[in-house]
Amino acid sequence: MAPYPTANSSGLNTPESELESVLPVHPTAARRPNPIVVQSEQTAYSDEYITSSFTNRGAAVTVTDGQYLVTPTAQQYELQTARKVAKTGLMMVGWGGNNGTTLSATILANRHNIVWHTKSGVQQPNYIGSLLRASTVRLGSDPSTGKDVHVPVSDVLPMVHPNDLVLGGWDISGARMDEAMKRAQVLDWDLQRQVMPHMAALGKPLPSIYYPDFIAANQEARADHVVPGKDKQAHLEQLRADIRRFKAEHALDRAVIFWTANTERYSDIIPGVNDTADALLASIKASHSEVSPSTLFAVAAILEGEPFVNGAPQNTFVPGVIQLAERHKSFIGGDDLKSGQTKLKSVLAEFLVNAGIKPLSIASYNHLGNNDGHNLSAEPQFKSKEISKSSVVDDMVEANHLLFKRPEPGAVKGTKAAKGEHPDHIVVIKYVPAVGDSKRAIDEYYSEIFCGGRSTINIFNECEDSLLATPLILDLTILTELLTRVKYRDVSAGQAEFSPLYSVLSLLSYMLKAPLVKPGTDVVNSLNRQRNALETFMKACIGLEGSSDLLMETRIW
Ligand code: NAD
Repeated sequence: MAPYPTANSSGLNTPESELESVLPVHPTAARRPNPIVVQSEQTAYSDEYITSSFTNRGAAVTVTDGQYLVTPTAQQYELQTARKVAKTGLMMVGWGGNNGTTLSATILANRHNIVWHTKSGVQQPNYIGSLLRASTVRLGSDPSTGKDVHVPVSDVLPMVHPNDLVLGGWDISGARMDEAMKRAQVLDWDLQRQVMPHMAALGKPLPSIYYPDFIAANQEARADHVVPGKDKQAHLEQLRADIRRFKAEHALDRAVIFWTANTERYSDIIPGVNDTADALLASIKASHSEVSPSTLFAVAAILEGEPFVNGAPQNTFVPGVIQLAERHKSFIGGDDLKSGQTKLKSVLAEFLVNAGIKPLSIASYNHLGNNDGHNLSAEPQFKSKEISKSSVVDDMVEANHLLFKRPEPGAVKGTKAAKGEHPDHIVVIKYVPAVGDSKRAIDEYYSEIFCGGRSTINIFNECEDSLLATPLILDLTILTELLTRVKYRDVSAGQAEFSPLYSVLSLLSYMLKAPLVKPGTDVVNSLNRQRNALETFMKACIGLEGSSDLLMETRIW
């Protein structure tokens, strides 16, 4: 069997849409028939799978009386990636919002290759801003020229093409998708005008679950399309039936359920209510007031065996949800899309600390005027966002005990000494309707430099929120679908059968502000490390060793 068939007709690759071929498409939206092929004993291709062996190298470190003792470790794994891309549906909760409508309209524009006029000229649809579609990885170098060879990330493994996602979802607002797009005021009018009939054909979102206590009171006027009653068990059954029906109607293999609805307040974690899977299921039966709509959607997805991703900051994943996902070997990922300010912070804070400079304070202000901003103007919802934005520099600070004092063992709980030294970090968000979807983020990084000196870096970042968020939703969806097709075997441990990956998909961290990770493991916030992890994992799936920047041949004679 050749590693890949030459035509697309076999069903192994994403099918070619007939509608794309009329005009040349942007390189980020193009379909390439020849994915990369690895010729190595580490990699085997069958009709169904790409199977690779790889060695996970690390080091075990112990410290005794100040002495570091390091033992290199090597664990042998096999990875098996199913080559047939699932026919995938994307069911968005909050489909009629700014993100949901922007994503739908831009996919339709790409699918139908609709070009539009702006004041600067003719604009072609594309997938700029998507790590998978618009960035590349270094595969190696050309032996004849010695030059690096880079390929699009989406060519490393078979992945769903965004144009092929089947769109659907729920909203508490009953506006039809074309009206909802108009209400969002994100896209140029000439694009809206042309994509309008396609959006109208999507119809209305499904009615959704509305528990007013969880989102800001200022959203009430929008909630004209809700599932009646207060019985949470009945609501859960309805959501499960919605997912099943959507899959059947569109003959889908997979549906990714994606929360891009309003930010909710935090749920209280109450023993016996939501701290275990059984408690949570019983609380849903009893319609307990602390079960949020987003938690109900997550439970519905888990019970249907479909992945759930949380694009907002609230604690949808109460401990009972994580346990339920583990029990069902279902996939979950979150929290909160990392689109602008936090993404920059995860790079800048790491740059400062890794350069040996000590950030003393990081002060972040935002103002925005879209419906998200309106909802976040209420204190409990702002609190969720504040929490999600605030932990982003923690791991970088913890990694450098030369600059930041470590927590003192035995110090009184809650004191500075017990928490360890940390830069002062504040986050402010204000609602300014006039600026609409164009968010302004102002950040000041105030740092200690050489021998008592001070450095201040000010950043003013203006960006269209929904146009930053949309490619992240696509990446999260496409990556999630891929990760459901990857299985592993721990060869060193003598594991005979391939298993699915662990339920919490921490490989999604690059796109998320407050990455959910396996309980008990460290969160990595560094954007570079997150990207590196993803790249290394994808390369491991095709039997290539990590992304070494050692470039040995350039260092030696
Ligand atoms: P939006 O307010 O325009 O859209 C949210 C939609 O959710 C609305 O249409 C609303 O009617 C609907 N909704 C509320 N509760 C619902 C429920 N229970 N079920 C179904 N629908 C419900 O907001 P947006 O700009 O699209 O952002 C969506 C979410 O993504 C927000 O929580 C926001 O904080 C988060 N987020 C956005 C960005 C970004 O850059 N745009 C970045 C990070 C996080």
